[in-house]
Amino acid sequence: MTRELWTRVDDYLNDALLSADPVLEAALADSGAAGLPPIAVSPSQGKLLHLLAVTAGARSILEIGTLGGYSTIWLARALPPGGHLVTCEYEPRHAKLARANLDRAGFGADVAEIRVGAALDTLPTLTGPFDFVFIDADKANLAAYVEAAFSLSRQGTTIVADNVIRGGAVADPTDTDRSVRGVREMFDLLHEDDRFDATAVQTVGDKGYDGFLLARIR
Ligand code: SAM
Repeated sequence: MTRELWTRVDDYLNDALLSADPVLEAALADSGAAGLPPIAVSPSQGKLLHLLAVTAGARSILEIGTLGGYSTIWLARALPPGGHLVTCEYEPRHAKLARANLDRAGFGADVAEIRVGAALDTLPTLTGPFDFVFIDADKANLAAYVEAAFSLSRQGTTIVADNVIRGGAVADPTDTDRSVRGVREMFDLLHEDDRFDATAVQTVGDKGYDGFLLARIR
């Protein structure tokens, strides 16, 4: 199997299941034009996040790692009237573009709030509980983000963390890459920790070989 095939199948599935979406497409186009890295979730992953948040009945959503707000828009669209989302972003330049993309998508700061700064500094300033948490920032701090998410959760809160397979490197205990070590620290934390009920799923697609963690607070 090749990445070319995975991309062809992703294109097929997107055509089959996703409608043209000028607002999301503009968010990606403006992010690219502004020089942001092309590391947003894929359309099918965005829809998965949306469906998971809707299924969880989320009225309050926390995201760690905004970039240009692409996944944020998918998540904000899952909110019912009166719902609220907070997204944490380190880079002011990313946050500024995300603000514009969210505004264009119809989610002002009263609905989708961006907290700028290192997430380990901004998370303790937030008030929970959140119903749904999406973790998609630096991987070195993943375990700390899962702990922070727990502090801001309630029983039944859903937590999703992206990019936890790292092309398979996660299974190599000798790998010294900071992101791989960060992911492994997160799995060490979750191992037999009865606060969480968790699984992880490997994925392939136009973003390559990776995967995500899905956890529920017991
Ligand atoms: N969730 C976004 C999407 O799918 O559209 C993609 C997020 S991108 C993979 C990761 C983002 O996390 C980047 O914008 C990066 O600047 C941000 N980030 C990295 N380290 C961070 C930190 N310590 N605190 C907050 N954000 C951070």
